[in-house]
Amino acid sequence: MIVKFNVTELLKDSYNRVIRDLRVSLTDRCNFRCFYCLPHGEPPMAPKEQMLTYEEIEQACRLFVELGIEKIRLTGGEPMLRRDIETLIRKLAALKPAGLHDLALTTNGYFLPERAAGLKAAGLDRVTISLDSLKPDTFRQMTGVDVLERVLAGIEAAKAAGLTPIKINAVIVRGHNEAEVADFAGFAREHDLRMRFIEFMPLDSGHDWSRADVVSGREIRERIEERFPLVPAPVRRGAETSARFVFADGAPGEVGIIAPVSEPFCGACSRIRLTADGQIRTCLFSTVEHSLRDCIRGGASRPEIIDYMRSVVLKKEPRHFINDPDFRQPARTMSFIGG
Ligand code: SAM
Ligand code: SF4
Repeated sequence: MIVKFNVTELLKDSYNRVIRDLRVSLTDRCNFRCFYCLPHGEPPMAPKEQMLTYEEIEQACRLFVELGIEKIRLTGGEPMLRRDIETLIRKLAALKPAGLHDLALTTNGYFLPERAAGLKAAGLDRVTISLDSLKPDTFRQMTGVDVLERVLAGIEAAKAAGLTPIKINAVIVRGHNEAEVADFAGFAREHDLRMRFIEFMPLDSGHDWSRADVVSGREIRERIEERFPLVPAPVRRGAETSARFVFADGAPGEVGIIAPVSEPFCGACSRIRLTADGQIRTCLFSTVEHSLRDCIRGGASRPEIIDYMRSVVLKKEPRHFINDPDFRQPARTMSFIGG
């Protein structure tokens, strides 16, 4: 018998921010070597038994959805490296009647040509695909792999499968791809995509981030507008991290600029993260984690797990501290945390 536990209060942090958005990292592993993320490959992996199983992820997500989470995004590392991700997607898609509105996946796109249709059939709503260059040489130099054509085919496959609206993430890094910003906007127009330009953040495993490498959101916008004038989108930001624009001439596609370094948006943050080994992180830049895995595996009852989730969310940081003089890069990198 299923006992429905009535949860009436939404997840709220101590600054009154309602938490609606959960990012779940499925693995720390990756088949790419993006220099701004995992330049030297994965550090030693956590033992397999420390990873959350699909059943544990489902259990955690079910409780989070009952507490008001509306969006779940699967990420990593490369989430499609986790075996049979379609099984997990089916389990999570079953949470829609309980209040999940949006089930998405962030991927480097490598596996999409063969698997996009299966992801859709399993219940995935949409994908975000990372694409840092439209030029084969720059793509290889930024990602460590020579597979631009395959990723472009992955975008086509996602579109054909109806995993829409498709977002494309490009991390813009000085000296690498800033000259391509307007080309990307053209690509979004041509293929009716939601282009997301992301400032380079200090979350790289090489610890090589430098402020001088950050191309600011403002510069990104100026570079786009030299070719394609923009106007604010009808929904400018909402609960999203990006400032959104559409093309002034009414062309299809959309542009979003995610500028956590130069224009922090922490006041509107509605997000928490669950790492592949079951740690809740309340901010990308948190220096502490909270073991939901230990809570679940320790035999906590359902109300006890819910209490734990609420108590962790109350510890969410007011903001990130990238721009403070004593900022310390978190020990875990983007590939562990789940971007
Ligand atoms: N492997 C998948 C992918 O690349 O889409 C999912 C995980 S990846 C960590 C998620 C997103 O984080 C990607 O769009 C990636 O470009 C972004 N990212 C990784 N390292 C970053 C950094 N140091 N600064 C800004 N964005 C970063
Ligand atoms: Fe892998 Fe994604 Fe990190 Fe690139 S950004 S190394 S594809 S996890």
